[in-house]
Amino acid sequence: MNLFDDPDSRLQETMVLLVDDQAMIGEAVRRALVGEPRLQFHFCSAAGEAVQTAERIKPTVILQDLIMPTVDGLSLVREYRSRPGTRDIPIIVLSTREDPAVKSEAFAAGANDYLVKLPDKIELIARIRYHSRAYQHLLQRGEAFRALRESQQQLTQINLELVRLTNLDGLTGLSNRRYFDEHLSLQWAQCVRERNEISVLMIDVDEFKKYNDAYGHLKGDEALKQVAAAIAECVERPADMTARFGGEEFAAVLPGTPAEGAMRVGEKIRERVQALAIDHRASTTGPVLTVSVGGATLAPRPGEDPVALIQIADETLYDAKRAGRNRVAVRAAPPRPPPPRPELHRAARD
Ligand code: GH3
Ligand code: MG
Ligand code: MG
Repeated sequence: MNLFDDPDSRLQETMVLLVDDQAMIGEAVRRALVGEPRLQFHFCSAAGEAVQTAERIKPTVILQDLIMPTVDGLSLVREYRSRPGTRDIPIIVLSTREDPAVKSEAFAAGANDYLVKLPDKIELIARIRYHSRAYQHLLQRGEAFRALRESQQQLTQINLELVRLTNLDGLTGLSNRRYFDEHLSLQWAQCVRERNEISVLMIDVDEFKKYNDAYGHLKGDEALKQVAAAIAECVERPADMTARFGGEEFAAVLPGTPAEGAMRVGEKIRERVQALAIDHRASTTGPVLTVSVGGATLAPRPGEDPVALIQIADETLYDAKRAGRNRVAVRAAPPRPPPPRPELHRAARD
């Protein structure tokens, strides 16, 4: 049944388990219940089998006799309450007399209701139905919560995956331009705080248009994947990152790295791509696919924008291309006028 179908149905399957040593009581209850729609009755006269029977038939209510020859009825109540399979099943204790002390003991042991034998048929059925329904609602609520928890977990998983995918380039698996911008901004701000240098490398595949023309776009895509993997291998520090900047251009962010360091990483990338030995007959740089790398380094100051760094890296990349491709050029930003001192600034404004 669907969880949310008919949650208030008053006639869901009711399963009664009567535990009583007297066959006569069993017969009387059976007669009282006979003909009741959607109600099953099970009688257990052996106290020693009561708990196992309850675990097996999963009643929606237990009628439990208090005085039995081998086991005390209250200890059975405690036993039902201590086991996961029977812990929440409603228990109606059947007693021979109306005794407040016994009653209070029964409730303390975990009983839900107390009836004096033999109760009136109408009252017995009403209580059985009431407790069964409450128990079924409890089960349904538990199931609904479990389903809710499960779908919430799935949603969290999906969201994490979505965040990951929105940050990745589909072809190469490197970070995409969106995440590159985000990461650069974060690292830029960190370097401003620490008065540290930051470098950016722009990496562009040489004569890739000719490669596509000669080998086709699919081979071109394959080559881009290999180049991306080679670039990623050369950039190792935790705060570093590599991204596909767009088309056949890649970029690396190297926080806390001076121009010489950026030069070394750029050179490593150039060598590693060349070592892939991807056949490129149409290239003017040699028989294999190569990249040119342009780098820029500066120590950012408050109020400055990382776009300036990318612009310089673009210019040095252009220098590398002009100088013949398959080479690396890195430039540290020229000295800039010192930022205004806060005191002077305030005085000028006042
Ligand atoms: P240069 O050495 O000056 O960089 O020459 P180039 O041909 O690499 O540069 P250009 O910018 O003229 O052409 C880049 C080419 O890269 C254009 C396009 O054919 C190819 N390209 C860009 N993105 C992709 C891609 O996702 N897959 C494939 N297969 N090719 C791409
Ligand atoms: Mg190119
Ligand atoms: Mg290009």
